[in-house]
Amino acid sequence: MKTYKSILILVAFVFVLPVLNASNPFWGVTGHRTIGKIAEDYLSSKAKRKIEELLDGQSLALVSTFGDDIKSDKRYNEFYTWHYINMPFDVKYEDSEKNENGDLVSGIEKCKQVLLDKNSKKEDKVFYLKLLVHLIGDLHQPMHVGRSEDKGGNDIQVRWFNDGTNLHSVWDSKMIEHYNMTFTELAGNTDKISKEQIKYLQNGTVADWANETQQLAIKVYGSAEVGEKLGYNYMYTNFELVRSQLQVGGVRLAQVLNTIFS
Ligand SMILES: [Zn+2]
Repeated sequence: MKTYKSILILVAFVFVLPVLNASNPFWGVTGHRTIGKIAEDYLSSKAKRKIEELLDGQSLALVSTFGDDIKSDKRYNEFYTWHYINMPFDVKYEDSEKNENGDLVSGIEKCKQVLLDKNSKKEDKVFYLKLLVHLIGDLHQPMHVGRSEDKGGNDIQVRWFNDGTNLHSVWDSKMIEHYNMTFTELAGNTDKISKEQIKYLQNGTVADWANETQQLAIKVYGSAEVGEKLGYNYMYTNFELVRSQLQVGGVRLAQVLNTIFS
C-alpha cells in the first residue's frame, strides 16, 4: 500500500506537475492579482462600497483570475476571444477588422454596459464585474495585443533559462515568477507617481489603451529571436516594463470602476 502511494506521488511529480507548469497561457495569477490589488488603492469610497456589496467582500485581487478560471468550463466558451485582440502592426483598433466573437475592447465595453444597466440582475453584475477586472489586466499585457499569425507570441518558441517556452508565456508569467515577489509585495512596491501622472494614465478610451499596448507589443516582438535563450539579461532589460504595466493596469482599472460606480 505504501509503495503504491509513493509510486502515485512519483508519477504526479514526473508527469502531472510539469504539464501544469507548461500550460499557463495568461498574465499568470500573480500579474492579475497585482493589478487588482493596486486598483484597490485608487478606488473612490463609493466604488469601494458598491464593489464590496456585489462581491460579498471578496477582493479585486481574488476575483481577478476569474476570467481564466472559467476557461476550463465549456459553458463559457463564448468569452474565449475576449482575452485578446490581434491587429496588424500598422492598424489601430478603430480601423481594425473586428473579431465577430468579440475581443478585449468590445468585451470590456460589454462588461461596462451590464454593470451600468439598472435592469441587470445582480448575478450578471457580479459575473461581468469579475470578468472586467480580469480583462483590464489582459489589456496591459503587451502580448495580448499581438499578431494573429503567431497567436500573440504563443507560437514564438524561446528558451527561458533552460526550459522551453514561448514569448507569450515569458510576458504572462515567466518574468514575474522569476522576480519572485508575491502579488501583495509587487503591489506594495510600485513606483511613486504624481497626481498628474495618474490623471494622464487614466485619460483616454479603452481603445486608446489597446493602441498603446500594441506599441509595446511591437517592442516585445523585437526583443527576442525565435529559439533565443532568454534569462538574466532579458529580465534586466524588460522587467521594468512588466512592473510598470501592472501599475498602469491597476490605476486604470480603478478609473473604470470609479466611473461605473460613481
Ligand atoms: Zn485572460
